[in-house]
Amino acid sequence: MLPSYRNLYGIVSLCISVLIFTPVQAYEKLSDETLSSLPRPNSDFDIHNGALLSPILQTRVPGTPGSTAVLNHFADFFQTTLPKWNVEVHNSTSKTPKSKGKDVPFRNFIATRDPPWAQVGDVGRLTLVAHYDSKIEPEGFIGAIDSAAPCAMIMHAMRSIDAALDKKWTALQQQGLDEFVEEVEGIQVIFLDGEEAFAEWTDTDSLYGARALATHWEDQFYPATSEFKTPLSSISMFVLLDLLGAQSPSIMSYYETTHWAYQNLGELEKRFKSLKQFKATSKDPWFIDTEKDVHNLTPSGGVLDDHVPFLARGVEILHLIDFAPFKGFPKVWHTIDDDGEHLDMDTVEDWSMLVTAFAAEWMELEGYFDHPKAASARRDEEHAASEAIRLNKKTEL
Ligand SMILES: [Zn+2]
Repeated sequence: MLPSYRNLYGIVSLCISVLIFTPVQAYEKLSDETLSSLPRPNSDFDIHNGALLSPILQTRVPGTPGSTAVLNHFADFFQTTLPKWNVEVHNSTSKTPKSKGKDVPFRNFIATRDPPWAQVGDVGRLTLVAHYDSKIEPEGFIGAIDSAAPCAMIMHAMRSIDAALDKKWTALQQQGLDEFVEEVEGIQVIFLDGEEAFAEWTDTDSLYGARALATHWEDQFYPATSEFKTPLSSISMFVLLDLLGAQSPSIMSYYETTHWAYQNLGELEKRFKSLKQFKATSKDPWFIDTEKDVHNLTPSGGVLDDHVPFLARGVEILHLIDFAPFKGFPKVWHTIDDDGEHLDMDTVEDWSMLVTAFAAEWMELEGYFDHPKAASARRDEEHAASEAIRLNKKTEL
């Protein structure tokens, strides 16, 4: 991410004019009971030997063995824990200011899960994104908030909703309701390579993986009869997590067209806190713009990050980055102190719960989680009945 706060206002206004006509995404709130019983990461976030986070906490400069090890960790995780997901690696190469004229490989990791009846090109996808590469300097830099922890948060969130997704999609198919679903929605994870600059941040020395992927997806066309034209246009929202894992984060809302989703995250934060489901005890709000009117957002344009090549192509962006003009980036940012020991683990865990809940609300999974308190959980028939009513309403609209 760029060390200074630059103005992207021009690009933003251009994109807003394109995006303002995008249809509103369905979104259904979770009950208090579900919010309180979502799975927690527990020891899997242990920084020394936890299954999810610790393998990412190593140097992982593009093209090095550390990078390959982390890529393999992602592949193993999806293969063993989320075998129904479709996994691919997007490869590109580029010279860098430090590569002495040689090409460096950049490998983006992409995992996707669509409803079983969905045709390629007819499914929109909530897309959760973080970069997994680490900065080449200072030597030994780990990048725990930047962005090992965000990768682990997304992994935890996806494994936490996977069974509920299965249950919902199976129920829809069994009831013959699948063909009535108007907005076919899947979910996608992208772990990008090469976000960091090798020397000074410039347009060409930064965002290597993101630039290559946005270009590739822009040029890859689905069949002409498809709902969406390209993999790029099938991204319902590009939710980018970066610099998360320090205490008391401050997250701004940058884009008018995704402010509604930002506000839902702000509401989830409040509900988690009032249900005493957050471990971090700071009273300061994380989503500092939640109360702001959509037309009253700070016209700052945002922080340059992996979303930029996608934003420039009209993709809806929600940028979750710990930054505010009054405090800057987290203290450890781009220093050798950005390691596992300096993470605020309560905050990291809370983030993983928040991302889980947001994804579950987006995918409309209320009623499809197995509660430990099964007595009050909705029964399968009730799911189907309420789903039928909901779909009917949508059709009428
Ligand atoms: Zn960075």
